[in-house]
Amino acid sequence: MVNFGYSPLSVHIQDIDKVDLGLSNQLAKDDPSFLLCIACGSCTATCTAGKFTNFSFRQMCHSIRRGENKLAISESEKCMLCGKCTLACPRNVNTRNIIRLVRKANQNI
Ligand code: SF4
Ligand code: SF4
Repeated sequence: MVNFGYSPLSVHIQDIDKVDLGLSNQLAKDDPSFLLCIACGSCTATCTAGKFTNFSFRQMCHSIRRGENKLAISESEKCMLCGKCTLACPRNVNTRNIIRLVRKANQNI
């Protein structure tokens, strides 16, 4: 390993071989638009639920990619399914359907 003279905090280290990508892979299969997200944040900026809670669709997707599935599933419950984020997304990510699929995954955990 190269010694750069510093090391990351242990909480910031992620062993990618141990990350649970089960939900991420399932979403990519059930709704491939999940893979189109570029994390621009337009959905979060327009989110109705975000006005009343700390919900962020972008953060939820980030959590799923990090294998933090339980956190993502519990966060998905804050969504009101209004659909504004779908209109705002420049990549045509089917956000509402992804939230629906994440909630459905809750039944399988
Ligand atoms: S607006 Fe679309 S591309 Fe941007 S973060 Fe949200 S889902 Fe991803
Ligand atoms: S559908 Fe959910 S995530 Fe999208 S804007 Fe509405 S409350 Fe926010």
